[in-house]
Amino acid sequence: MQYYSSQNPLVSEARNPELLDLSVVVPIYNEAESLPSLIEAIASAVKETQLSYEIICVDDGSIDGSTQILTEIALQRNDLKGVILRRNYGQTPAMAAGFEYATGKIIITLDGDLQNDPADIPLLLAKLDEGYDLVNGWRKNRQDAALTRLLPSKIANWLIGKVTGVKLHDYGCSLKAYRSELVADMNLYGELHRFLPALAYIEGARITEIPVRHHPRRFGKSKYGLGRTIRVIMDLLTIFFMKKFLTRPMHVFGLGGVISFALGIAMGLYLTVIKFVFQQNIGARPLLVLSVLLVLTGVQLFCFGLVTELLMRTYHESQRRPIYRVRNIVGKEFRV
Ligand code: UDP
Ligand code: MG
Repeated sequence: MQYYSSQNPLVSEARNPELLDLSVVVPIYNEAESLPSLIEAIASAVKETQLSYEIICVDDGSIDGSTQILTEIALQRNDLKGVILRRNYGQTPAMAAGFEYATGKIIITLDGDLQNDPADIPLLLAKLDEGYDLVNGWRKNRQDAALTRLLPSKIANWLIGKVTGVKLHDYGCSLKAYRSELVADMNLYGELHRFLPALAYIEGARITEIPVRHHPRRFGKSKYGLGRTIRVIMDLLTIFFMKKFLTRPMHVFGLGGVISFALGIAMGLYLTVIKFVFQQNIGARPLLVLSVLLVLTGVQLFCFGLVTELLMRTYHESQRRPIYRVRNIVGKEFRV
């Protein structure tokens, strides 16, 4: 908390209790042609809802002049904040920066290439109003290449749903609406922006999805190719671990270690009996190798469990990060 109040005036301003209703966060990397119409489209969609709002465009080290265009537009309007990053970090850090500077009670994210339709924003807000914490867009009619984009995405969505337990049709859709307290709880690393619903689910959020429009890319080109699939799978493993064992790593490693150790010892004892009671040679028996391997693995896993347990405690306690999340507190007369 000290970090927010001392260092950066913009961030402490972002923690001002007088919140706006809505922040629209858009990562921008080389989207010069679409920027002006994007901002217009967002503003006109949001004005329809009568909410107080701001648009936060995070320029992620663009090299096509997006930075200058963004700066010019931001100086002309009073609903636009441009956050210009020093270099290209990637979509996840760009979104994290946007969240940091967002002051709205609700945060909407969307892509800067006009593939998402800002006109869908009121629909997401209406759905959120029904009592959800996160509304995910679902590009029902997705306009991307079938073999390189749609197929891997279908498999990834299925896999993510299986692993995380949050079944959504379209994790990759950037058009999403969140309650901001949810976003404040989530730390983003790697390319985890794709897993925000899964992270939100770990934090106890109520999640739903609605179909949204999707248009082909008109300007510029996509920043991703097939290589993304591998990264998605790696991130998925991280999420899987976080969901299951973040607060109790000893249950995975410790248990595995104890089982392995016990099996190894049992085999060793068996071999000892064979050697000393039955007077047989055990030097050439594969079981001996297996026994040694299991004992060593067991000790290693157990120690690893202890170390990760300590790391986990440091993680939670150094940030005063509780291991639970309270939705609200009820009571006729509530005093602390
Ligand atoms: N983006 C970014 N930094 C990057 C790559 C992408 O901020 O390093 C932004 C990009 O400008 C766009 C969004 O992330 O607003 C999604 O990128 P893209 O449209 O290329 O992905 P696709 O729609 O093809 O999945
Ligand atoms: Mg796109």
